[in-house]
Amino acid sequence: MIRFNKPYITGNEIKYIQDAIDRRELSGDGFYTKACTELLNQKLNSTCFLTTSGTDALEMAAILAGIQPGDEVIMPSYTFVSTANAFVMRGATVRFVDSRSDSPNLDEDQLEALINSDTKAIVVVHYGGVACDMDRIMNLAEKNRLFVIEDAAHAIDATYKGKPLGTIGHFGAFSFHATKNIIAGEGGMLVVNDEQSRKRAEIIREKGTNRTSFFRGEVDKYGWVDVGSSFLPSEIVAAFLLAQVEQIDEIQQKRIHIWNRYDQQLRKLEGHGFQLPQLPDYASNNAHLYYLVCPSLEIRSALIEFLSGQGIKAVFHYQSLHRSDFYARQSPEYAADHLPNSDKYTDCLLRLPLFPDLTKEELTYICDKILEFTEKL
Ligand SMILES: *Cc1c(COP(=O)(O)O)cnc(C)c1O
Repeated sequence: MIRFNKPYITGNEIKYIQDAIDRRELSGDGFYTKACTELLNQKLNSTCFLTTSGTDALEMAAILAGIQPGDEVIMPSYTFVSTANAFVMRGATVRFVDSRSDSPNLDEDQLEALINSDTKAIVVVHYGGVACDMDRIMNLAEKNRLFVIEDAAHAIDATYKGKPLGTIGHFGAFSFHATKNIIAGEGGMLVVNDEQSRKRAEIIREKGTNRTSFFRGEVDKYGWVDVGSSFLPSEIVAAFLLAQVEQIDEIQQKRIHIWNRYDQQLRKLEGHGFQLPQLPDYASNNAHLYYLVCPSLEIRSALIEFLSGQGIKAVFHYQSLHRSDFYARQSPEYAADHLPNSDKYTDCLLRLPLFPDLTKEELTYICDKILEFTEKL
């Protein structure tokens, strides 16, 4: 069976973990957390905080944005549950915006109609690492005094007009889950671009204490100064992650090579009822996903089954959150919202195997099988 994802290992993970053990420095913010954070700060030219997951990074962003009961937060319906949960846990009502017809990213044209006096933030999701139109979103947010949070879980090493994704809004949340481009098993990172929030981010990440200041020698004891939780990862996670971040260029090169091969062989499906990934001029490609949007749910199901029979694991993705059981109970007045593009991606989007160790032969085999299936349609 050709797997959908096979986590890539650089070889240095085990060495660095052994070294962390030898140092007897295993809790958070030690040598490896610092080394990894420094590298990421340089890469993103901002201030990064490692977290235990992308979900945690989103939860930190929701606290830092001061989200309270009664606030509304706008985000696409076609996303992972954590994008919404982080804000719902602060008491917010989520308002879902439809995806674009040409990509699962939110439709910038439909944002303004959802803004009212309760709106506090817009959360964008750069689906597949392809940038949303951030200039338009930032202008709208500024005009309405809203926070912008980038769910950049897919978007490491991707840019908008040359600027790294996750560094344009007030906050950027990354994930290093084993299915992402750069991994730590479970792990994440919050990028705090809003300078006024950096001090508070340190505190919230350390259970609401000023322990980070204490370790820098700025205060002679640390105590409870704010809300917070245990958002910092252990040194073992940071050691694993450093090995990955150091080789990000090699990893990305392999992924982009595979993505381009898929594109060369499958682009011809466009115009035969299939929709393929689109890269606007302002977006770079970080090769997080290669997907097909099938003509219908029936065809997608048949294709998944056909490929499975040929030893190929291809998988669908999100289920529109506005159609979830939870949202129907939480916000019944909006659960019937008509978001046809979100529904289209829910029913028709299919992700193909993409990981650095996928061989040229496997890739050609996958494409041949897809074309064999579509020729019979
Ligand atoms: C993976 C993902 C998350 C959550 O990240 P975890 O590290 O698994 O908590 C959030 N949003 C999106 C869009 C994701 O793909």
